[in-house]
Amino acid sequence: MSFLPIHLSDGRVLNMKIRKSKRAGRFWLKADISGIYMVAPADNYGINQATRFLEDKKAWILKAVQYYEKVRAECGIDNLRSNAISFLGKIYNLQVVKDTRFSITISTSLCKITVHVTDLRDYKNEIKQWYHTETRRIVTERLEFIIRMNPGLPAYNKVFIKDHTARWASCSEKRNLNFSLLLAMLPIQVIDYVIIHELAHLVQLNHSKRFWDIVKKMDPEFQTHRKLLHKYSMLIKYTRIS
Ligand SMILES: [Zn+2]
Repeated sequence: MSFLPIHLSDGRVLNMKIRKSKRAGRFWLKADISGIYMVAPADNYGINQATRFLEDKKAWILKAVQYYEKVRAECGIDNLRSNAISFLGKIYNLQVVKDTRFSITISTSLCKITVHVTDLRDYKNEIKQWYHTETRRIVTERLEFIIRMNPGLPAYNKVFIKDHTARWASCSEKRNLNFSLLLAMLPIQVIDYVIIHELAHLVQLNHSKRFWDIVKKMDPEFQTHRKLLHKYSMLIKYTRIS
């Protein structure tokens, strides 16, 4: 990995990371929640050529940098570290230590989650088990509360907590509600939105205007929560358990 400085029009100097790739036939840029980098063909490329490419893309780079800065601020992470983990919308540093039995301690003041695991090689599964339990507890509580607040909803069949990382939730034709075990990562109001979204599918198994009207009735701020959900989806990719 090498770096190339680029002067952005807001006055900052960005040290652009450059990754060489054998498959890249040309220069291209990639930006996501963890930052921005440039992919370059693995064969020798001229510094002048690379600099010129970055100069041409300056406006795009600034826009991308500013956009993801906003996303990180909204998710409560300014500098995303590789050991970041989220619980109920708050970002923590994850520390994994070996112990004789599984336990977990959450320090809000230190922004740290310490996981004591019995097998260091299998810590991801032990953490997933913990998320599973927490998500089950939270979903049970919130589901009951939301149903009490919105009488007249059709009944659901069963609730399943699934090992899904690509999908937050779904509603089946058998009226079962499925939730990803990672749901406990989200802020509580976003978890409520996900539950409300699936409950509304019990009435409308589509995303029609009528469906969104039902969602809005139960969650007037659903649009904000939907956007937040999208941002957390990007974050999930960078947690150590997915
Ligand atoms: Zn849906």
